[in-house]
Amino acid sequence: MDSPNSLVSVSRSRGTIPASVIKIAFGRSANRCAFPECPPVTLDNGVPLLEIAHISSLSAGGPRYSPSLTRTGRDSADNIIILCPTHHALADKNPEIFTTEELAKIRDAHFERVQRALSAEQKRTTSSRLADLLEVWNQKRATGDEEYWQQLFSDHPEAFSLALEGRAYTLSSKCYVGGKSVGNRGGNVLDFLAQHSGNVALVEIKTPATKLLAPQKYRGNVYAPSRELAGSTVQALEYRYSLISNLPALAFETPGLRATQPMGVVIIGDLEKEAMDEAGRRSFELYRSSFRDLKIMTYDELFGGIQMLVDILSD
Ligand SMILES: [Zn+2]
Repeated sequence: MDSPNSLVSVSRSRGTIPASVIKIAFGRSANRCAFPECPPVTLDNGVPLLEIAHISSLSAGGPRYSPSLTRTGRDSADNIIILCPTHHALADKNPEIFTTEELAKIRDAHFERVQRALSAEQKRTTSSRLADLLEVWNQKRATGDEEYWQQLFSDHPEAFSLALEGRAYTLSSKCYVGGKSVGNRGGNVLDFLAQHSGNVALVEIKTPATKLLAPQKYRGNVYAPSRELAGSTVQALEYRYSLISNLPALAFETPGLRATQPMGVVIIGDLEKEAMDEAGRRSFELYRSSFRDLKIMTYDELFGGIQMLVDILSD
């Protein structure tokens, strides 16, 4: 079944090397010969032209044979290196240059190269997605169309991660928290239900163009929240209440839902752009810091965080 011939092109007995050791060796090598700069060669059918080489030979008299090594030791990951036929032959014909230590060093350096390349790739992907988001923000900052932002967060759930703690993924959008499951009708329609580390957030989004404060002072040095801000905070709290009331049924119907302490999140407004005097700013901060289970985040704060991340990742 898992004959080595399905992994390597040369008909060469895998002997007693466990299949798991072989899989790990090929995986960590990224199907490349451990010698640096050795170009990848594959056969016409796509199978890489590689061999599973023992560092210490299996048989007495073979290259780098060590009598103290047990049979199991010889077939362990420590004693295995993936090489192309050319480098395999080179290593076995010159054991005085390619000693046991030298080959292990070549192999481990290759593993590290693979690991570095993969994390650099990951970093590029993340940072280019976030950079795309920033581009959108810079162009569409003044857009007051709620559906536009709804769609943007649908396409980029990673943007929520900054508003929430830890990595978030969207469980559902336009979901019903009062029904039998989050996909079921009959409940209230919530913009996003985002699952993050061990908890769930009920996200209500407005637009960056939505005003945070009522246009007129309430009295003295006090401003009231805008109708939209007051309405969306109560709305988010209402969803939270509804989710908690229906939690047993929802959790049963919705795999992956973990909601020990659900949090409401409202994303609204643009603090940098909204003209506010000191008193207005204080009223807004007093208002949003008064909630225990609800977080109010403005769009410029959210995208400011993304900008910071992009700067860090592009260093
Ligand atoms: Zn090679």
